[in-house]
Amino acid sequence: MLSISIDRDGCISCGACWNTCPEFFEQNPDDTHSQVIKKYRTGIGRGEAPEQLGDLIRRAVQLCPVQVIHIG
Ligand code: SF4
Repeated sequence: MLSISIDRDGCISCGACWNTCPEFFEQNPDDTHSQVIKKYRTGIGRGEAPEQLGDLIRRAVQLCPVQVIHIG
């Protein structure tokens, strides 16, 4: 499993992460920021991802314009 965190306060809701990897990220309907989908969520901005999502999540990390997604 990969530990992922999103610094949600810095998220600008661009959509890159949830468009790249909707299997793990989604938009919070209330504050519009990114969050981890319920299946993998351990906290609103935290989650444990299976290894098979690693490539897509790493791509999302690279695409995030404000670099608020972290692995580990
Ligand atoms: S890619 Fe970054 S800024 Fe864009 S929605 Fe995801 S966490 Fe927010």
